Amino acid sequence: MNIEGRKALVLGAGKSGVESVRFLASHGAVVALHDKREVESWSETARSLKTSHSVGLIAGDIPSWLLDQIDLVVISPGVPTNTIPARYVDRKDGEVIGEVELAYRFLKGRVVGITGSNGKTTTTALIGEILANAGIATQVGGNIGTPLLSLIETSTDDGWTVVELSSFQLETIVDFRPNVAICLNVTPNHLDRYEGFHEYALAKHRLFMNQTADDVAILNADDEITSSWAAVGLKAHIVLFSVKRELEEGLFLRDTELVCRSNGKEKVLTTRDDIFLRGLHNVENVLAALAAGLACGASPESMRETVRNFQGVEHRIEYVTEIDGVRFYNDSKATSVDATSKAIEALSGGEGKTVLILGGRGKNAPYAPLINLIESSVRTLILIGEDADNIASQLAGHAEIIRADSMEDAVAKGFAAAQNGDAVLLAPACASFDMFKSYEERGTVFKAAVANVKS
Ligand code: ADP
Repeated sequence: MNIEGRKALVLGAGKSGVESVRFLASHGAVVALHDKREVESWSETARSLKTSHSVGLIAGDIPSWLLDQIDLVVISPGVPTNTIPARYVDRKDGEVIGEVELAYRFLKGRVVGITGSNGKTTTTALIGEILANAGIATQVGGNIGTPLLSLIETSTDDGWTVVELSSFQLETIVDFRPNVAICLNVTPNHLDRYEGFHEYALAKHRLFMNQTADDVAILNADDEITSSWAAVGLKAHIVLFSVKRELEEGLFLRDTELVCRSNGKEKVLTTRDDIFLRGLHNVENVLAALAAGLACGASPESMRETVRNFQGVEHRIEYVTEIDGVRFYNDSKATSVDATSKAIEALSGGEGKTVLILGGRGKNAPYAPLINLIESSVRTLILIGEDADNIASQLAGHAEIIRADSMEDAVAKGFAAAQNGDAVLLAPACASFDMFKSYEERGTVFKAAVANVKS
Protein backbone atom coordinates (compact mmCIF):
# COMPACT_ATOMS: atom_id res chain seq x y z
CA MET A 1 0.00 0.00 0.00
CA ASN A 2 1.37 3.42 -0.93
CA ILE A 3 0.66 6.22 1.49
CA GLU A 4 3.06 8.90 0.26
CA GLY A 5 1.15 11.89 -1.11
CA ARG A 6 -2.30 10.50 -0.34
CA LYS A 7 -4.98 12.74 1.06
CA ALA A 8 -6.37 10.99 4.09
CA LEU A 9 -9.22 11.66 6.47
CA VAL A 10 -9.16 9.93 9.86
CA LEU A 11 -12.53 9.63 11.61
CA GLY A 12 -12.56 9.60 15.41
CA ALA A 13 -10.05 11.48 17.58
CA GLY A 14 -9.56 8.69 20.14
CA LYS A 15 -6.54 6.43 20.69
CA SER A 16 -6.86 4.54 17.41
CA GLY A 17 -7.52 7.74 15.41
CA VAL A 18 -4.47 9.48 16.87
CA GLU A 19 -2.30 6.48 16.03
CA SER A 20 -3.66 6.40 12.46
CA VAL A 21 -2.89 10.10 11.98
CA ARG A 22 0.67 9.69 13.24
CA PHE A 23 1.27 6.71 11.00
CA LEU A 24 -0.20 8.28 7.86
CA ALA A 25 1.50 11.64 8.38
CA SER A 26 4.90 10.09 9.05
CA HIS A 27 4.53 8.07 5.83
CA GLY A 28 3.99 11.19 3.74
CA ALA A 29 0.20 11.55 3.60
CA VAL A 30 -1.67 14.82 3.98
CA VAL A 31 -4.05 14.17 6.86
CA ALA A 32 -7.19 15.64 8.38
CA LEU A 33 -8.61 14.37 11.68
CA HIS A 34 -12.34 14.53 12.32
CA ASP A 35 -14.52 14.01 15.36
CA LYS A 36 -18.12 15.02 15.89
CA ARG A 37 -17.21 16.53 19.28
CA GLU A 38 -15.83 20.09 19.53
CA VAL A 39 -12.05 20.30 19.18
CA GLU A 40 -11.77 21.80 22.69
CA SER A 41 -13.02 18.51 24.17
CA TRP A 42 -10.45 16.35 22.32
CA SER A 43 -7.46 14.97 24.21
CA GLU A 44 -4.32 17.06 24.42
CA THR A 45 -2.53 14.46 22.26
CA ALA A 46 -5.17 14.68 19.53
CA ARG A 47 -5.11 18.49 19.47
CA SER A 48 -1.31 18.63 19.42
CA LEU A 49 -1.26 16.74 16.09
CA LYS A 50 -2.05 20.06 14.43
CA THR A 51 1.39 21.43 15.22
CA SER A 52 3.41 18.22 15.47
CA HIS A 53 2.13 16.65 12.23
CA SER A 54 0.48 19.58 10.36
CA VAL A 55 -2.87 17.85 10.60
CA GLY A 56 -6.14 19.65 9.94
CA LEU A 57 -8.60 19.29 12.84
CA ILE A 58 -12.28 19.16 11.92
CA ALA A 59 -15.25 18.98 14.27
CA GLY A 60 -18.97 18.59 13.60
CA ASP A 61 -20.17 17.89 10.06
CA ILE A 62 -17.58 16.83 7.47
CA PRO A 63 -17.55 19.51 4.74
CA SER A 64 -18.29 18.16 1.28
CA TRP A 65 -15.38 20.09 -0.31
CA LEU A 66 -13.07 18.07 1.92
CA LEU A 67 -14.65 14.75 1.02
CA ASP A 68 -14.23 15.59 -2.65
CA GLN A 69 -10.45 15.78 -2.21
CA ILE A 70 -9.92 12.79 0.05
CA ASP A 71 -8.72 9.46 -1.40
CA LEU A 72 -8.43 7.45 1.83
CA VAL A 73 -10.68 7.34 4.89
CA VAL A 74 -9.44 5.56 8.02
CA ILE A 75 -12.28 4.99 10.43
CA SER A 76 -11.95 4.38 14.20
CA PRO A 77 -13.85 1.44 15.72
CA GLY A 78 -16.09 3.74 17.78
CA VAL A 79 -17.35 5.59 14.71
CA PRO A 80 -20.35 4.03 12.92
CA THR A 81 -19.52 3.28 9.28
CA ASN A 82 -22.57 5.21 8.11
CA THR A 83 -20.86 8.41 9.31
CA ILE A 84 -19.19 8.57 5.91
CA PRO A 85 -21.64 9.96 3.37
CA ALA A 86 -22.73 7.30 0.87
CA ARG A 87 -21.71 9.73 -1.90
CA TYR A 88 -18.07 9.27 -0.84
CA VAL A 89 -18.24 5.52 -0.29
CA ASP A 90 -19.66 5.05 -3.79
CA ARG A 91 -16.79 6.97 -5.40
CA LYS A 92 -14.57 4.62 -7.39
CA ASP A 93 -11.29 5.99 -6.06
CA GLY A 94 -12.41 6.34 -2.45
CA GLU A 95 -11.00 3.75 -0.08
CA VAL A 96 -12.49 3.28 3.40
CA ILE A 97 -10.60 1.08 5.89
CA GLY A 98 -10.20 0.72 9.63
CA GLU A 99 -7.06 1.14 11.70
CA VAL A 100 -6.66 -2.65 11.98
CA GLU A 101 -6.70 -3.04 8.20
CA LEU A 102 -4.20 -0.20 7.74
CA ALA A 103 -1.85 -1.77 10.29
CA TYR A 104 -2.24 -5.27 8.86
CA ARG A 105 -0.95 -4.10 5.48
CA PHE A 106 2.38 -3.22 7.11
CA LEU A 107 2.60 -5.81 9.88
CA LYS A 108 5.28 -8.51 9.63
CA GLY A 109 4.89 -12.12 10.77
CA ARG A 110 1.80 -14.12 11.57
CA VAL A 111 -1.42 -13.18 13.34
CA VAL A 112 -3.80 -14.74 15.85
CA GLY A 113 -7.17 -12.91 15.77
CA ILE A 114 -9.64 -13.25 18.64
CA THR A 115 -13.25 -12.13 18.61
CA GLY A 116 -16.49 -13.00 20.40
CA SER A 117 -19.14 -11.23 22.44
CA ASN A 118 -17.43 -12.08 25.74
CA GLY A 119 -14.04 -13.34 26.83
CA LYS A 120 -11.92 -11.66 24.16
CA THR A 121 -9.55 -9.81 26.47
CA THR A 122 -9.08 -12.69 28.88
CA THR A 123 -8.37 -15.12 26.03
CA THR A 124 -6.13 -12.66 24.16
CA ALA A 125 -4.03 -12.00 27.27
CA LEU A 126 -3.74 -15.74 27.97
CA ILE A 127 -2.70 -16.57 24.40
CA GLY A 128 -0.09 -13.80 24.54
CA GLU A 129 1.41 -15.42 27.66
CA ILE A 130 1.13 -18.95 26.27
CA LEU A 131 3.11 -18.03 23.16
CA ALA A 132 5.68 -15.86 24.93
CA ASN A 133 6.32 -18.54 27.57
CA ALA A 134 6.72 -21.12 24.80
CA GLY A 135 9.64 -19.07 23.50
CA ILE A 136 7.77 -17.63 20.50
CA ALA A 137 8.35 -13.94 19.64
CA THR A 138 4.96 -12.49 20.56
CA GLN A 139 3.23 -9.15 20.85
CA VAL A 140 -0.35 -8.41 21.91
CA GLY A 141 -2.65 -5.60 20.79
CA GLY A 142 -5.84 -4.45 19.09
CA ASN A 143 -9.02 -3.89 21.06
CA ILE A 144 -7.21 -4.90 24.26
CA GLY A 145 -5.74 -1.39 24.42
CA THR A 146 -2.64 -1.10 22.22
CA PRO A 147 -3.57 0.00 18.70
CA LEU A 148 -2.24 -2.45 16.13
CA LEU A 149 -0.51 0.39 14.27
CA SER A 150 1.84 0.92 17.19
CA LEU A 151 3.03 -2.71 16.89
CA ILE A 152 4.24 -2.49 13.30
CA GLU A 153 7.79 -1.44 14.06
CA THR A 154 8.33 -4.22 16.58
CA SER A 155 6.78 -6.94 14.40
CA THR A 156 9.18 -9.53 12.96
CA ASP A 157 8.92 -12.04 10.11
CA ASP A 158 9.07 -15.06 12.39
CA GLY A 159 7.00 -13.57 15.23
CA TRP A 160 3.30 -13.61 16.05
CA THR A 161 0.95 -10.73 16.82
CA VAL A 162 -2.05 -11.64 18.97
CA VAL A 163 -4.91 -9.27 18.13
CA GLU A 164 -8.18 -8.77 19.99
CA LEU A 165 -10.91 -7.65 17.58
CA SER A 166 -14.31 -6.15 18.28
CA SER A 167 -17.15 -6.49 15.80
CA PHE A 168 -16.71 -2.77 15.05
CA GLN A 169 -13.09 -3.33 14.03
CA LEU A 170 -14.08 -6.30 11.88
CA GLU A 171 -16.60 -4.20 9.97
CA THR A 172 -13.80 -2.25 8.31
CA ILE A 173 -11.27 -4.95 7.43
CA VAL A 174 -10.62 -5.71 3.77
CA ASP A 175 -7.57 -8.01 3.41
CA PHE A 176 -6.93 -8.76 7.12
CA ARG A 177 -6.27 -12.48 7.34
CA PRO A 178 -5.44 -14.09 10.67
CA ASN A 179 -3.44 -17.34 10.42
CA VAL A 180 -5.27 -18.49 13.52
CA ALA A 181 -8.75 -17.06 14.17
CA ILE A 182 -11.01 -17.60 17.17
CA CYS A 183 -14.65 -16.73 17.73
CA LEU A 184 -15.52 -17.51 21.34
CA ASN A 185 -19.28 -16.90 21.24
CA VAL A 186 -21.91 -14.66 19.67
CA THR A 187 -24.58 -13.44 22.05
CA PRO A 188 -26.82 -10.33 21.95
CA ASN A 189 -24.61 -7.25 22.42
CA HIS A 190 -24.30 -3.81 20.82
CA LEU A 191 -27.85 -4.06 19.53
CA ASP A 192 -27.88 -0.28 19.80
CA ARG A 193 -25.43 -0.13 16.86
CA TYR A 194 -26.61 -3.01 14.71
CA GLU A 195 -29.94 -3.36 12.94
CA GLY A 196 -30.31 -6.78 14.47
CA PHE A 197 -28.57 -9.82 15.85
CA HIS A 198 -27.98 -11.18 12.36
CA GLU A 199 -25.97 -8.10 11.30
CA TYR A 200 -23.91 -8.29 14.48
CA ALA A 201 -23.14 -12.00 13.90
CA LEU A 202 -22.18 -11.23 10.29
CA ALA A 203 -19.64 -8.66 11.49
CA LYS A 204 -18.02 -11.33 13.70
CA HIS A 205 -17.99 -13.81 10.83
CA ARG A 206 -15.82 -11.44 8.80
CA LEU A 207 -12.85 -12.59 10.90
CA PHE A 208 -12.75 -15.76 8.79
CA MET A 209 -13.52 -14.29 5.36
CA ASN A 210 -9.92 -14.04 4.09
CA GLN A 211 -8.62 -17.24 5.66
CA THR A 212 -7.38 -20.09 3.44
CA ALA A 213 -6.95 -23.83 3.87
CA ASP A 214 -3.52 -23.12 5.44
CA ASP A 215 -5.16 -21.31 8.34
CA VAL A 216 -6.90 -22.46 11.50
CA ALA A 217 -10.36 -21.39 12.71
CA ILE A 218 -11.18 -22.13 16.36
CA LEU A 219 -14.90 -22.22 17.16
CA ASN A 220 -17.07 -22.86 20.20
CA ALA A 221 -19.09 -26.06 19.61
CA ASP A 222 -21.51 -25.08 22.43
CA ASP A 223 -22.49 -21.74 20.94
CA GLU A 224 -25.47 -21.74 18.61
CA ILE A 225 -24.01 -19.28 16.12
CA THR A 226 -20.38 -20.42 15.99
CA SER A 227 -21.37 -24.08 15.82
CA SER A 228 -23.66 -23.27 12.89
CA TRP A 229 -20.65 -21.75 11.11
CA ALA A 230 -18.71 -24.95 11.75
CA ALA A 231 -21.58 -27.04 10.35
CA VAL A 232 -21.58 -25.05 7.12
CA GLY A 233 -17.78 -25.04 6.97
CA LEU A 234 -15.13 -22.38 6.52
CA LYS A 235 -12.16 -22.20 4.17
CA ALA A 236 -9.78 -22.68 7.11
CA HIS A 237 -9.20 -25.91 9.04
CA ILE A 238 -11.75 -25.87 11.89
CA VAL A 239 -10.85 -26.80 15.48
CA LEU A 240 -13.80 -27.03 17.87
CA PHE A 241 -13.89 -26.72 21.65
CA SER A 242 -16.62 -27.63 24.12
CA VAL A 243 -17.23 -27.59 27.88
CA LYS A 244 -20.45 -29.55 27.47
CA ARG A 245 -19.56 -32.72 25.57
CA GLU A 246 -16.72 -34.91 24.38
CA LEU A 247 -15.81 -34.16 20.79
CA GLU A 248 -14.58 -36.71 18.28
CA GLU A 249 -11.96 -34.18 17.27
CA GLY A 250 -11.07 -31.01 19.17
CA LEU A 251 -10.62 -29.77 22.73
CA PHE A 252 -13.13 -30.45 25.48
CA LEU A 253 -13.77 -30.66 29.21
CA ARG A 254 -14.25 -34.18 30.60
CA ASP A 255 -15.03 -34.08 34.33
CA THR A 256 -12.13 -32.00 35.53
CA GLU A 257 -9.75 -32.66 32.64
CA LEU A 258 -9.16 -30.41 29.63
CA VAL A 259 -8.56 -32.88 26.84
CA CYS A 260 -7.33 -32.53 23.26
CA ARG A 261 -8.40 -35.29 20.87
CA SER A 262 -6.80 -35.35 17.46
CA ASN A 263 -6.67 -38.21 14.90
CA GLY A 264 -7.95 -40.63 17.52
CA LYS A 265 -5.23 -39.71 20.04
CA GLU A 266 -5.99 -38.03 23.35
CA LYS A 267 -3.89 -35.82 25.57
CA VAL A 268 -4.87 -34.22 28.87
CA LEU A 269 -3.58 -30.65 28.58
CA THR A 270 -4.47 -29.44 32.06
CA THR A 271 -7.15 -29.79 34.75
CA ARG A 272 -9.76 -27.44 36.18
CA ASP A 273 -7.89 -27.36 39.49
CA ASP A 274 -4.99 -25.74 37.66
CA ILE A 275 -7.16 -22.85 36.46
CA PHE A 276 -7.19 -19.88 38.86
CA LEU A 277 -10.04 -18.11 37.04
CA ARG A 278 -13.58 -18.81 38.26
CA GLY A 279 -16.49 -20.06 36.21
CA LEU A 280 -17.12 -22.49 33.41
CA HIS A 281 -16.94 -19.62 30.89
CA ASN A 282 -13.28 -19.26 31.78
CA VAL A 283 -12.75 -22.95 31.01
CA GLU A 284 -14.07 -22.08 27.54
CA ASN A 285 -11.53 -19.26 27.29
CA VAL A 286 -8.73 -21.58 28.40
CA LEU A 287 -9.75 -24.28 25.89
CA ALA A 288 -9.77 -21.70 23.08
CA ALA A 289 -6.37 -20.38 24.18
CA LEU A 290 -4.92 -23.90 24.36
CA ALA A 291 -6.22 -24.62 20.86
CA ALA A 292 -4.52 -21.44 19.63
CA GLY A 293 -1.31 -22.35 21.44
CA LEU A 294 -1.25 -25.76 19.74
CA ALA A 295 -1.92 -24.14 16.34
CA CYS A 296 1.05 -21.80 16.87
CA GLY A 297 3.38 -24.59 18.00
CA ALA A 298 3.51 -24.11 21.78
CA SER A 299 4.37 -27.23 23.74
CA PRO A 300 1.66 -28.73 26.00
CA GLU A 301 4.05 -28.68 28.99
CA SER A 302 4.77 -24.97 28.77
CA MET A 303 1.07 -24.22 28.13
CA ARG A 304 0.08 -26.08 31.27
CA GLU A 305 2.51 -24.03 33.34
CA THR A 306 1.24 -20.77 31.84
CA VAL A 307 -2.41 -21.64 32.51
CA ARG A 308 -1.51 -22.47 36.12
CA ASN A 309 0.08 -19.04 36.62
CA PHE A 310 -2.51 -16.95 34.78
CA GLN A 311 -4.51 -14.82 37.22
CA GLY A 312 -6.82 -13.11 34.73
CA VAL A 313 -7.27 -9.47 33.80
CA GLU A 314 -8.43 -6.58 36.03
CA HIS A 315 -12.21 -5.83 36.14
CA ARG A 316 -13.17 -9.40 35.07
CA ILE A 317 -14.69 -11.18 38.11
CA GLU A 318 -11.71 -9.74 39.97
CA TYR A 319 -11.61 -10.69 43.63
CA VAL A 320 -11.31 -7.46 45.65
CA THR A 321 -11.41 -8.33 49.34
CA GLU A 322 -13.42 -9.86 52.16
CA ILE A 323 -15.00 -7.73 54.89
CA ASP A 324 -16.92 -9.27 57.81
CA GLY A 325 -17.50 -12.50 55.91
CA VAL A 326 -18.65 -10.73 52.72
CA ARG A 327 -16.50 -11.09 49.60
CA PHE A 328 -16.44 -8.35 46.95
CA TYR A 329 -15.95 -8.98 43.23
CA ASN A 330 -15.36 -6.40 40.51
CA ASP A 331 -16.73 -7.49 37.15
CA SER A 332 -17.16 -3.98 35.75
CA LYS A 333 -16.33 -5.40 32.33
CA ALA A 334 -19.60 -7.34 32.40
CA THR A 335 -21.31 -4.89 30.05
CA SER A 336 -23.76 -7.41 28.58
CA VAL A 337 -26.52 -9.54 30.07
CA ASP A 338 -24.66 -12.68 29.06
CA ALA A 339 -21.45 -11.65 30.81
CA THR A 340 -23.46 -10.83 33.94
CA SER A 341 -25.10 -14.25 33.96
CA LYS A 342 -21.67 -15.86 33.60
CA ALA A 343 -20.44 -13.93 36.62
CA ILE A 344 -23.46 -14.90 38.77
CA GLU A 345 -22.95 -18.53 37.74
CA ALA A 346 -19.23 -18.37 38.48
CA LEU A 347 -19.89 -17.24 42.06
CA SER A 348 -22.82 -19.57 42.72
CA GLY A 349 -22.59 -23.05 44.15
CA GLY A 350 -21.18 -22.08 47.54
CA GLU A 351 -23.03 -21.43 50.80
CA GLY A 352 -23.89 -17.77 50.39
CA LYS A 353 -25.84 -15.76 47.86
CA THR A 354 -24.94 -12.83 45.65
CA VAL A 355 -25.87 -9.20 46.08
CA LEU A 356 -25.72 -7.90 42.53
CA ILE A 357 -25.03 -4.32 41.48
CA LEU A 358 -26.68 -3.86 38.11
CA GLY A 359 -27.34 -0.94 35.75
CA GLY A 360 -25.78 1.86 33.73
CA ARG A 361 -26.39 2.74 30.10
CA GLY A 362 -28.61 0.01 28.64
CA LYS A 363 -27.93 -1.71 25.36
CA ASN A 364 -31.51 -2.56 24.37
CA ALA A 365 -31.03 -6.22 25.23
CA PRO A 366 -33.66 -7.88 27.46
CA TYR A 367 -32.80 -8.59 31.13
CA ALA A 368 -35.23 -11.52 31.36
CA PRO A 369 -32.50 -14.13 30.63
CA LEU A 370 -31.19 -13.34 34.15
CA ILE A 371 -34.41 -14.30 35.92
CA ASN A 372 -33.68 -17.98 36.64
CA LEU A 373 -30.20 -17.24 37.94
CA ILE A 374 -31.48 -14.34 40.03
CA GLU A 375 -34.10 -16.55 41.63
CA SER A 376 -31.58 -19.28 42.46
CA SER A 377 -28.52 -17.25 43.44
CA VAL A 378 -29.21 -13.56 44.01
CA ARG A 379 -30.31 -12.16 47.37
CA THR A 380 -30.73 -8.50 46.40
CA LEU A 381 -30.43 -6.34 43.30
CA ILE A 382 -28.90 -2.91 43.76
CA LEU A 383 -29.81 -0.79 40.72
CA ILE A 384 -27.79 2.15 39.47
CA GLY A 385 -27.69 4.36 36.38
CA GLU A 386 -29.87 5.34 33.47
CA ASP A 387 -31.43 1.95 32.83
CA ALA A 388 -32.48 1.31 36.46
CA ASP A 389 -36.23 1.87 35.81
CA ASN A 390 -36.18 -0.43 32.81
CA ILE A 391 -34.33 -3.14 34.76
CA ALA A 392 -36.70 -2.79 37.71
CA SER A 393 -39.72 -3.21 35.46
CA GLN A 394 -38.26 -6.34 33.84
CA LEU A 395 -36.98 -8.01 37.02
CA ALA A 396 -39.56 -6.92 39.63
CA GLY A 397 -40.83 -9.78 41.77
CA HIS A 398 -37.76 -11.98 41.27
CA ALA A 399 -35.54 -10.50 44.01
CA GLU A 400 -35.52 -7.62 46.47
CA ILE A 401 -34.72 -4.42 44.56
CA ILE A 402 -32.91 -1.44 46.09
CA ARG A 403 -32.06 1.80 44.22
CA ALA A 404 -28.72 3.56 44.64
CA ASP A 405 -27.68 6.93 43.25
CA SER A 406 -23.90 6.51 43.17
CA MET A 407 -21.37 3.68 43.26
CA GLU A 408 -20.53 4.53 46.89
CA ASP A 409 -24.23 4.33 47.75
CA ALA A 410 -24.54 1.02 45.86
CA VAL A 411 -21.59 -0.53 47.69
CA ALA A 412 -22.85 0.67 51.09
CA LYS A 413 -26.37 -0.65 50.42
CA GLY A 414 -24.98 -3.87 48.97
CA PHE A 415 -22.81 -4.46 52.03
CA ALA A 416 -25.76 -3.76 54.33
CA ALA A 417 -27.96 -6.22 52.42
CA ALA A 418 -25.33 -8.99 52.34
CA GLN A 419 -25.21 -11.74 54.93
CA ASN A 420 -22.21 -13.68 56.20
CA GLY A 421 -20.88 -15.86 53.34
CA ASP A 422 -22.43 -13.73 50.59
CA ALA A 423 -20.66 -11.99 47.74
CA VAL A 424 -21.25 -8.42 46.57
CA LEU A 425 -20.75 -8.46 42.83
CA LEU A 426 -20.51 -5.52 40.46
CA ALA A 427 -21.56 -7.02 37.10
CA PRO A 428 -23.75 -4.27 35.66
CA ALA A 429 -24.85 -5.76 32.26
CA CYS A 430 -24.69 -2.19 30.94
CA ALA A 431 -22.21 0.30 29.51
CA SER A 432 -20.68 2.75 31.96
CA PHE A 433 -20.89 6.03 30.06
CA ASP A 434 -23.90 7.47 31.89
CA MET A 435 -21.90 7.74 35.14
CA PHE A 436 -18.25 7.04 34.26
CA LYS A 437 -15.65 7.64 31.57
CA SER A 438 -15.14 3.92 31.02
CA TYR A 439 -15.71 0.51 32.58
CA GLU A 440 -12.19 0.75 33.99
CA GLU A 441 -13.10 3.91 35.90
CA ARG A 442 -16.34 2.27 37.10
CA GLY A 443 -14.38 -0.73 38.42
CA THR A 444 -11.79 1.48 40.07
CA VAL A 445 -14.50 3.59 41.77
CA PHE A 446 -16.17 0.36 42.93
CA LYS A 447 -12.91 -0.89 44.47
CA ALA A 448 -12.31 2.46 46.18
CA ALA A 449 -15.88 2.40 47.57
CA VAL A 450 -15.29 -1.12 48.89
CA ALA A 451 -12.09 0.02 50.59
CA ASN A 452 -14.06 2.79 52.37
CA VAL A 453 -17.26 0.90 53.07
CA LYS A 454 -16.60 0.61 56.80
CA SER A 455 -15.16 4.07 57.36
P1 ADP B 1 -14.31 -9.02 26.20
O1 ADP B 1 -12.95 -8.51 25.90
O2 ADP B 1 -14.90 -9.86 25.10
O3 ADP B 1 -15.25 -8.00 26.68
P2 ADP B 1 -13.36 -10.03 28.75
O4 ADP B 1 -12.37 -11.08 28.84
O5 ADP B 1 -12.92 -8.63 28.97
O6 ADP B 1 -14.11 -10.12 27.35
O7 ADP B 1 -14.56 -10.36 29.72
C1 ADP B 1 -15.72 -9.53 29.66
C2 ADP B 1 -16.79 -10.04 30.56
O8 ADP B 1 -17.30 -11.26 30.08
C3 ADP B 1 -16.33 -10.30 31.97
O9 ADP B 1 -17.38 -9.87 32.77
C4 ADP B 1 -16.13 -11.80 32.01
O10 ADP B 1 -16.35 -12.31 33.29
C5 ADP B 1 -17.15 -12.31 31.03
N1 ADP B 1 -16.65 -13.44 30.25
C6 ADP B 1 -15.36 -13.78 30.04
N2 ADP B 1 -15.27 -14.84 29.24
C7 ADP B 1 -16.52 -15.20 28.90
C8 ADP B 1 -17.09 -16.22 28.07
N3 ADP B 1 -16.33 -17.09 27.44
N4 ADP B 1 -18.43 -16.27 27.97
C9 ADP B 1 -19.21 -15.39 28.60
N5 ADP B 1 -18.75 -14.40 29.41
C10 ADP B 1 -17.42 -14.30 29.56
